[in-house]
Amino acid sequence: MGKSEELFERAVKRIPGGVNSPVRAYGAIGMAPRFIKRADGCHIYDVDGNEYVDYIDSWGPMILGHNFPQIREAVVEACADGLSFGCATEIEVEMAEFICEHLPHVEMVRMVNSGTEAVMSAIRAARGYTGRDKIIKFAGCYHGHSDALLVSAGSGVMTSGVPDSAGVPKGCTQDTMTAVYNDLNSVKTLLEQAPGQVAAVIVEPVAANMGVVPPKKGFLEGLRSLCTEHGTLLIFDEVITGFRLAFGGAAEYFGVTPDMVTFGKIIGAGMPVGAYGGRKEIMEMVSPAGPVYQAGTLSGNPIAMAAGLTQLKYLYEHQEVYKELEEKGEKLYSGIEQILKEYKKPYHVNYVSSLGSLFFAENEVVDYTSAKASDTNAFADYFLAMLKSGIHLAPSQFEAMFLSAAHTDTVIEETLSEVRDYFMK
Ligand SMILES: *Cc1c(COP(=O)(O)O)cnc(C)c1O
Repeated sequence: MGKSEELFERAVKRIPGGVNSPVRAYGAIGMAPRFIKRADGCHIYDVDGNEYVDYIDSWGPMILGHNFPQIREAVVEACADGLSFGCATEIEVEMAEFICEHLPHVEMVRMVNSGTEAVMSAIRAARGYTGRDKIIKFAGCYHGHSDALLVSAGSGVMTSGVPDSAGVPKGCTQDTMTAVYNDLNSVKTLLEQAPGQVAAVIVEPVAANMGVVPPKKGFLEGLRSLCTEHGTLLIFDEVITGFRLAFGGAAEYFGVTPDMVTFGKIIGAGMPVGAYGGRKEIMEMVSPAGPVYQAGTLSGNPIAMAAGLTQLKYLYEHQEVYKELEEKGEKLYSGIEQILKEYKKPYHVNYVSSLGSLFFAENEVVDYTSAKASDTNAFADYFLAMLKSGIHLAPSQFEAMFLSAAHTDTVIEETLSEVRDYFMK
């Protein structure tokens, strides 16, 4: 038994399921998860002494690669002054100014501690601003684990949400309507069924929590005009896409302007940070400026801000990173596509820039229903073979692969060669 197995045996006795977040468990794989000791660049090292090429990147934050020297140094430096004051600091002002100066659709921003908190608070602000209760989300999009968003996906349009988790009262999800990703008509139907009642439509502008599902041409533009027409706010959940597809996230990448936006992951560079922002008149609803209550003891924590702001400044000053990520994505994901074609495998690859998924699905994946048609046993077999070859993928068919600036062409070619060996058999 390896050290990871030993640690997992201890962990399950004291931590539910042995992990502090379900995505870390190898539930779909049927083995103990790897316990990680350290990471550097595009590599991650487990407690058993194995080295892997990492395609999880802490689920996105490590866009510059693990253990990026400037970020580590900024954190060490900030620590010398104390870890938290629970009082206003200069770096919070700098963070807010930096974001608002460089993202035209963000006039004001509030820092929180996670993506979940960012989304939950953005929705509260949207409801407070519009005076409406209902929200529309898309089946297969994940927006954190707040009650109102844990609705079961079902198939097709749903006018009232059914909780997807034990412990969520029906009352918490009854105002959450569910539409079909990439299907504007489903959104139109819901908006027309509840005229003047929908506060916000929230969407992952590139869905990356059912595997990667890109928006069809015109989908985001269509959401924009439907929302404008109905006096409904459009919220882009850019917890994954923000500062990743472009410095200005999906809003910049696709040229569509949301009313509000949520951030997480990259904005903290590996520290627990989230943020929500948008138009001034909406954000001024938030307390203490306005009547929408939202607070946080550790929000805007100086160490977290030092990490996050250092990463954002680096990305802004080195925007060639985005072109490189686009090229790396093209190389890796179209490379996988090519291999599938060569060995006549009926599977599909979806990707946008550095985000990608290989779906073990025979039909194109455009929404939750088509994603769910994937053969998860085939995925598990592939995952295990990749792990044995030193490639660390997310242990689920329904999670993205994340490329970072630290993934070199050589590393990508080595990965492709392992993928080829797998499908050749
Ligand atoms: C990860 C994620 C969240 C939740 O963020 P946490 O920091 O895990 O709470 C919300 N929305 C999207 C799109 C995400 O990918």
